[in-house]
Amino acid sequence: MILRRLSRGAIELLYPARCLICGQSAHDHFCENCDRGLGDRALRCPRCATTVGPHSLTEGECAACRKEPPPFSKALCLGSYRGSLKAAVLRMKNASGEGIAELLGRRWGVTHSLGELTVDAVVPVPLHWWKHWRRGYNQSAAIALGIARIHGVPIRPRWLCCIRRTAPQKTLQATARQINVKGAFQARSAVSCRHVLLVDDVMTTGATSEEAARALRRAGAARVTVAILARVTVGEPDGVEL
Ligand SMILES: [Zn+2]
Ligand SMILES: [Zn+2]
Repeated sequence: MILRRLSRGAIELLYPARCLICGQSAHDHFCENCDRGLGDRALRCPRCATTVGPHSLTEGECAACRKEPPPFSKALCLGSYRGSLKAAVLRMKNASGEGIAELLGRRWGVTHSLGELTVDAVVPVPLHWWKHWRRGYNQSAAIALGIARIHGVPIRPRWLCCIRRTAPQKTLQATARQINVKGAFQARSAVSCRHVLLVDDVMTTGATSEEAARALRRAGAARVTVAILARVTVGEPDGVEL
């Protein structure tokens, strides 16, 4: 039902004469300046999408992924959590945020080819019903819808649900974030043998995406690739995750 409402047009409700990020006049939803700042060409670890130096990848992975491989096989982001992408992510929290989230999902979809990945379904990181009710929508579901539309892949929000209310991740340190989300997600057996594209808005320590991916793998998913809008670079302040 929520998706049907979205598909009827959160985007259409947005008036594109002004940039949705900076408010300057624009010919499209985002002005040229902001649009340029949404993506970047930073060198990243293909496994966890963190930025790395030119010689930091060994066998294609960063030191952290080699030491402790995440439960997903790949993470693809639009860009770093800064500049216009950070501003756009913060705007997603506003009343018109649902439309911006879907637009950013579309932008992700245009940026990344899924051809070689052969993804079976797009699954958003779910919100606990209480948070969903308070926020009014799940930003990851809106991003997922944008991605699914660009790539023509089915979106399956019910394949993963949040069974426990968690504290906001932004208030916690790395280890506490892992504990906070532990056991928070449960996946349906429909994921069995599927390659799932798991969608989240911002990845900081990766604790939320990892726990969601673990739930999908436990239920039999063959493979999980993570799609995120913004990757927080280690050592930089963040402020949003879940
Ligand atoms: Zn702008
Ligand atoms: Zn890595």
